[in-house]
Amino acid sequence: MSRTIYRNARVFTAEPAGSGSGPWAEAFVVDGDVLAYVGELEGAVAAAGDGADVVDLDGRLVLPGFTDAHTHLVMMGDALGRVPLTDARTLDEIQARLRSARAADPTAPRVLGRGWLFDSVPGAPTAAMIDAAVADVPVFLDANDYHSCWVNSAALADLGITRETPDPIGGRIGRDADGEPDGMLYETAAQQFVWEHLANLTTDADRDAAVERTIDAYLATGVTGVVDMAFDELGLAAFQRAIDRRDGSLPIRVAAHWFVANTGDADANLAQVEHAARLAAETAAAPTAPWLRIVGIKLVLDGVIDACTAAMRHPYADGSNAEPIWPLDALKPVVAAADAAGLQVAQHAIGDYASDIALDAIEHAVEVNGDLPRRHRIEHLEYAAPGTAERMSRLGVTASMQPVHADPAIFDNWVAMLGDERVDRAFAWPEFVDAGALLAFSTDAPTAPHEALHNMYVAATRRSALDPSFEPSLPGFALPLAEAIGHATRDAAASCGDGDTRGRLAAGLAADFAVLDVDPFAEGEASLLTARVIRTVVAGATVFAVAEADADADGVAA
Ligand SMILES: [Zn+2]
Repeated sequence: MSRTIYRNARVFTAEPAGSGSGPWAEAFVVDGDVLAYVGELEGAVAAAGDGADVVDLDGRLVLPGFTDAHTHLVMMGDALGRVPLTDARTLDEIQARLRSARAADPTAPRVLGRGWLFDSVPGAPTAAMIDAAVADVPVFLDANDYHSCWVNSAALADLGITRETPDPIGGRIGRDADGEPDGMLYETAAQQFVWEHLANLTTDADRDAAVERTIDAYLATGVTGVVDMAFDELGLAAFQRAIDRRDGSLPIRVAAHWFVANTGDADANLAQVEHAARLAAETAAAPTAPWLRIVGIKLVLDGVIDACTAAMRHPYADGSNAEPIWPLDALKPVVAAADAAGLQVAQHAIGDYASDIALDAIEHAVEVNGDLPRRHRIEHLEYAAPGTAERMSRLGVTASMQPVHADPAIFDNWVAMLGDERVDRAFAWPEFVDAGALLAFSTDAPTAPHEALHNMYVAATRRSALDPSFEPSLPGFALPLAEAIGHATRDAAASCGDGDTRGRLAAGLAADFAVLDVDPFAEGEASLLTARVIRTVVAGATVFAVAEADADADGVAA
């Protein structure tokens, strides 16, 4: 008998009121890898039958496992191994951390850092600022949003970047008044110079270690499913090796969108879509499909507001604006081809001009392909113009948004770049719900911390999880905690096509759930910053648990 009854729990099911058990239950039964019953104790006892194992949860809160609906798995694991700079709030502190990282590993061939904020650097970042701390080896520092990279002079030399080097399509090499590279690489310049360079130096063993760091970090925070938003050959191979190490499974469910770059050549763009469609068919047919699937493609239409690279209908405060990385005429055939192939299309659109053309391209696909099952999505939507949410609802397009990107501690520069009444509509989550669009929450790790409960804190309060002393930003857009969790569990699973199989706690669905040590519904939202996940279960199996002595519960009786 493989049935287990979990009792004496406060179970938040994420079910709508009036369906199934409703949003709350006190017990549930796991049969193998699925839930056999969720509801009252009496019903659970009857459903479990004789001889079931019993787990008494000591009144603790149980949530459906979180799905991080937009993340970058290998990058996250890589970032977890780098010098962290997000909470270094002055140039002095950034330099101090780089000096001590160099001192701690004096034979390292380079120094890698991540997560620095524009707000922490006076004026524009320069190579000389890093040279002042570390000059003898190349230093590469990814910005917190991963849309630019700040490097030192040794790195510029290593990359072969000189005043003669042209800017790539969709990117820019920062230059000083004399035209010399200044140490900043924006958008595709960061991708094509730095990331490709570092990727060439990275081994499979490095990537395997990164994958394991990511899996461990997610399971420890109650995340049971993830959607990677820029999968490539190296990421796919790394996850296939992770599956091989475990004889055919993973302890977390991975869905992935294949990254399709704008090559400037229509045929080459379509070839990438065909390749993604082949991989989607292969991964869906494989016995490992519950653990690893390619579900769609990812297109990056614009940059970010912080660097004035997001494409806006109206210019930034300084009069500048950005061209979309995918102009509409190049975008349309790619979206239509993916739509026809049954792939989900995820379009990164932070500015309102970018979300306009993302929806234009989807409308075009509907026109040429007719009625098909489809669930496309737009990523970020940090500033969406009035009417966008309604248009998305009409087209069945998911709003994929990241509460942690609205953290007030990283908001000042965002506000300054737009500089007008548009800032009053920043990250307007409730607008998408009210319009009837599916709203899926995620963290976009490693551009923001991956912890699901911190993400829920920002979602439910619009306060800062990085520095709670900040005033909340636009608190009218905060969501009640139960709704926030629903968007990060039920709706996040639905965003990748799993709405009928997991993401809620209901009979017949996957037994994927997390147990917390405190109950933020009872203790208040502030407790989300200190609450810990003490047990994570995926497909009925406990894949993470804190030591018995720490948990002081989880009594198992016959
Ligand atoms: Zn992303």
